[in-house]
Amino acid sequence: MEPSLRIYNTMSRKKEVFEPLNPPLVGLYVCGPTVYGEPHLGHARSAITFDLLFRYLRHLGYKVRYVRNITDVGHLESDADEGDDKIGKKARLEQLEPMEVAQLYQNSYHFHMDALNVLRPSIEPKASGHIQEQIEKTQRILDKGYAYVSGGSVYFDVERYQQDHHYGKLSGRDIDELRSNTRQLDGQDLKRNSFDFALWKQAAPEHIMRWNSPWSQGFPGWHIECSAMSAKYLGERFDIHGGGLDLLFPHHECEIAQSVAANGQEAVRYWMHNNMITINGQKMGKSLGNFITLEQFATGEHPALAQAYDPMTIRFFMLQAHYRSTLDFSNEALQAAEKGLARLLAAAQTLRKLRPAERSSQDLQALRLACQQALDDDLNTPIAIANLFEISKFINSVHNGQATISAEDLAELAPWFDTLLFEVLGLRAENAADHKGKVLDGVLDLLLRLRLEAKQNRDFATSDRIRDALAALGVQVKDRKDGFEWELS
Ligand code: ZN
Repeated sequence: MEPSLRIYNTMSRKKEVFEPLNPPLVGLYVCGPTVYGEPHLGHARSAITFDLLFRYLRHLGYKVRYVRNITDVGHLESDADEGDDKIGKKARLEQLEPMEVAQLYQNSYHFHMDALNVLRPSIEPKASGHIQEQIEKTQRILDKGYAYVSGGSVYFDVERYQQDHHYGKLSGRDIDELRSNTRQLDGQDLKRNSFDFALWKQAAPEHIMRWNSPWSQGFPGWHIECSAMSAKYLGERFDIHGGGLDLLFPHHECEIAQSVAANGQEAVRYWMHNNMITINGQKMGKSLGNFITLEQFATGEHPALAQAYDPMTIRFFMLQAHYRSTLDFSNEALQAAEKGLARLLAAAQTLRKLRPAERSSQDLQALRLACQQALDDDLNTPIAIANLFEISKFINSVHNGQATISAEDLAELAPWFDTLLFEVLGLRAENAADHKGKVLDGVLDLLLRLRLEAKQNRDFATSDRIRDALAALGVQVKDRKDGFEWELS
């Protein structure tokens, strides 16, 4: 397979030609959701970014093993390894089992991702199902001397690691800067340094989620799950690790340190990060009151939303921006995306009706190539979509008789356009059942208007015939002073 894809590697800070370790297999690991709340726009952006990568790699002919985890344990309220477990806390507040909370939001996550046409990963491991692997990885790091046990907890020794390796390599953070920026230890602390991070935490008496380990009854630190599960399913060295830019530090930096400490080498060949969403130029956050869940997008019930939005509109809106740029949400931008998507989908329909001519009046090969090259260039979807709009314009011109397409071009363009739109970009035309429903509503309305006209013309035979035929089909028609009403009996 000729390597054609170039991706921006956050580690090297440049675009690199993508060459997998064991072609045609590609190992892809993406940090998935923490399941203690409703999925929101940020979840959608990360999921759509890596869904596009998954789809495009498969389109190029690779066989992708895509692992995306579910964090259902060990995510504490603060990055400083303190506070309550977020799922445990929610469970206490709502009087549910922690696994009930995790399941509830995992179901919601799947529901909304399916609606966004995000493909399910090949493997979706849960942190709570891999406690043994996390204990083993922690033990290995201890054996290599890069961690210490303190009060039943195990901490990664960043300073010791720094003597042999480079902590901060991915994020560009400097250990001295971290030392001055993090809170001073107060003597009560179990850590040697404030920037050390937990591999295992002893559970406080009120903590519900706990497991046995060689060190204490407790639970794994947040970062170790991804090192343990990626190694289990993709091996100690694999191709691509993805996630949101907010995970760059400390999460991904800690993952790198853990892998190097345990195995003596970095696990990941290419690091990819999607950028964040802003809302009217502001960061999205619960405290800012601009936090919009995907459920709220579907219903339109949020003060910041002018209307409900179809999940495909959200998907298209996200694809219209490059994944490494910040993306600003506004009603205007989503409404524009809604119109743009409708134009592309209409062109896909029109394409089926075109009749070929002697020759093509435009160079379609060039447009198709530009589209492919844009995707090869670090998944540049805005440019690819701009080319698809050009092609749509051409399709409409042919349909209106202002341009022509050759039989050969038409035979190539039709499947290519569909593949790009539906398989690679993962867009979906309106659900067929909804569409049929709308058409039938229109037909019924037309029939009842004709019946009304017949009645007004005193043609009672016709009006009764329509009423009786509809009644036989289960449609009850009621006459009103100002027209009619119908309902299904
Ligand atoms: Zn992770």
